[in-house]
Amino acid sequence: MSRIASVLIPMPLPEAFDYAEPEGMGLAPGDQVAVPLGPRTMRGVVVDLREAAGGNRPLKPVAERLDDPPLPPGTVEFVQWAARYAVDAPGQPLAIALRGARAQKARPQRVVAATGRAPVRATPARGRVLDAAVQPMPAADLARAAGVSAGVVKGLVDEGVLEVREIDPRRAFDPPDVSRRETHLNPSQAAAAEALRKAPGGFSVTLLDGVTGSGKTEVYLEAAAAALEADPEAQVLILAPEIALTQAVIARVAARFGAAPGEWHSDIAPPARRRVWEATAAGECRIVVGARSALFLPFKRLRLIVVDEEHDGSFKQEEGFIYHARDLAVVRGRIEGAAVLLASATPSLESLRNAETGRYRWLRLSARHGAARLPDITLIDLRETPPEAGRWLSPPLVRAMGETLARGEQTLLFLNRRGYAPLVLCKACGERMTAPDTDSWLVEHRYTGRLVCHLTGFSMPKPAACPHCGAKDSLVSIGPGVERVEEEARALFPDARLAVFSSDTVFDAREARRLVERMAAGEIDILVATQAAAKGHNFPRLTLVGVVDADLGLRGGDLRAGERTYQLLAQATGRAGRHDRPGRALLQTYAPDHAVMQALAAQDRDAFVAAEMAERELAGLPPFGRLAAVIASGPDAGQLDAFVQDMARAAPNTPGVEVYGPADAPLGLIRGRRRKRFLVRADRGVDLSAYMAAWRARVRPPGPVRVAIDIDPYSFL
Ligand code: ADP
Repeated sequence: MSRIASVLIPMPLPEAFDYAEPEGMGLAPGDQVAVPLGPRTMRGVVVDLREAAGGNRPLKPVAERLDDPPLPPGTVEFVQWAARYAVDAPGQPLAIALRGARAQKARPQRVVAATGRAPVRATPARGRVLDAAVQPMPAADLARAAGVSAGVVKGLVDEGVLEVREIDPRRAFDPPDVSRRETHLNPSQAAAAEALRKAPGGFSVTLLDGVTGSGKTEVYLEAAAAALEADPEAQVLILAPEIALTQAVIARVAARFGAAPGEWHSDIAPPARRRVWEATAAGECRIVVGARSALFLPFKRLRLIVVDEEHDGSFKQEEGFIYHARDLAVVRGRIEGAAVLLASATPSLESLRNAETGRYRWLRLSARHGAARLPDITLIDLRETPPEAGRWLSPPLVRAMGETLARGEQTLLFLNRRGYAPLVLCKACGERMTAPDTDSWLVEHRYTGRLVCHLTGFSMPKPAACPHCGAKDSLVSIGPGVERVEEEARALFPDARLAVFSSDTVFDAREARRLVERMAAGEIDILVATQAAAKGHNFPRLTLVGVVDADLGLRGGDLRAGERTYQLLAQATGRAGRHDRPGRALLQTYAPDHAVMQALAAQDRDAFVAAEMAERELAGLPPFGRLAAVIASGPDAGQLDAFVQDMARAAPNTPGVEVYGPADAPLGLIRGRRRKRFLVRADRGVDLSAYMAAWRARVRPPGPVRVAIDIDPYSFL
């Protein structure tokens, strides 16, 4: 009897396709195979096998079973679950899960290493090479490190002073050493770690809720050690919201376990990606530290998932396959029978609600470790003490920066805005510079001299004359970004060492690590940073945090504006005074009476959360109700309008579900495509994914119109 294989292909197709299994191929679920699809041959994954009943029309056969590791059953189930939840094609999450499997394999790397032999002829250049050759490295790197030409290195190889070696790029991951512990947990940390260790095995969710600097990282590393120790094959996944933060976590993991973990995020080169993917599937890589997509790795025996800074909005993937990694981490934990640990000083209202109702376990750490105290937080009322005209730092903040510098301590100026100025306009005709086919203002970047659309990446040189009226030198920059604040700080403190930390100045993981190390080593006096640097890091000499525009996140307020502003500013201010020196934070605001500012100044999270929860409950909003969004887009306004009207009429009538819209999206035009939105609110008990799937099945968008569904939206633009 022959069998039929259902094969899922990593493309946006509605379902798995059936193929005939050739005699003797011996397929199993999870196997990676090559299958014909139209004129092409595609990689796919077997998700199901069944006996063929007679009489079916003949199916095309599977072309080949690939010599790549199969996807473990948990990963296959997770991919399918995630697709159903997100109301998207299962091939979309599968594509994420196969990203490492399809990455290019590494070639053996050629490095040079010292042989111990002395050169026949010693020159200063040769001396520098030998000083730099402390460990094997590629010849080009060695030449660069020593500041010599490639010829000098080659000469030393020819003489036998250096030798060429090949290293296997698929070298194994060193096993973690769980017994290696450098810190002793304080009593409250030890109690939390003990509670985690004593938890019954299998799936559980715990909220590790501890103030900034309380040692949550120490506690979850203990939980990781316990999981690795209890089972010699156990694997641990630690998710961090930003690449910069993965670097800090990797360093902590390496210090705790004496071995580097697998690293996974968008900035990893393909061969390294492949190595982590294969080692994860083989169960040989026991600890992975990564950004959200690491959740889709093919773990063989996942026993613990840590979601660090679980409240962070970066866990929400907004493009392509739309998902929230914190929510899916809980799902993956359930499928794998793994413990899930959500850590934060400012947990999301969703997680707090689950903790309050007993669905999650709740461990609290209420004080900083050791002598460190939480910083004093003071509001600066900009209506009373405004900065000078054309400046952004108020006199009290400037004074505090001067005092901090004089003590040899560090300042972090936090402003969540990239570039130099968020708006450029013509003072002759009033024209605002916008992107050509997108509803967004162009942001001035002075380091590069360009105007940039942060939404689409479009950029152009800053023109000398207004493109609208032709006036020369009439374009003025309105408002501050980090570059402008740095300029101001540099003018105020010309002798201070300054740096800017934003995704424009720090564009890869290595840069991020370098800047974090320089800051930690005290080589920077004033760091001007967006949120990329405001969370999670430990800078021992940082004692002053100045929030340049505390009101920024409240403008345009969506449902989570207050919550998000509270979280972001509590995190930013929480960078101050993490060691023995007391810290303080100054928040510049025009709205000192706003509930968020009051809660921050009083450091009263619980009161803020209680008030916010009460409002959400009244309105039936998350975490008390559920939301989904529909974003329809198309190049033609009339066609899009007609389609969304049809779609409105097709909405299923279900008790407990309300549909709002269609409405113009606040960002009504992106890359030449018009955008319309629906918002759906449902009671908690409603299967919102099923509702959205049923709705979508009733409409057929015309060719150029695209419909995206966003379950539990975080952006409403
Ligand atoms: P959190 O993750 O809660 O922000 P961390 O784990 O980063 O806190 O701890 C804050 C700082 O205190 C770090 O520098 C950490 O090394 C130090 N620390 C925390 N707990 C201990 C401990 N038990 N012994 C020594 N140092 C500790």
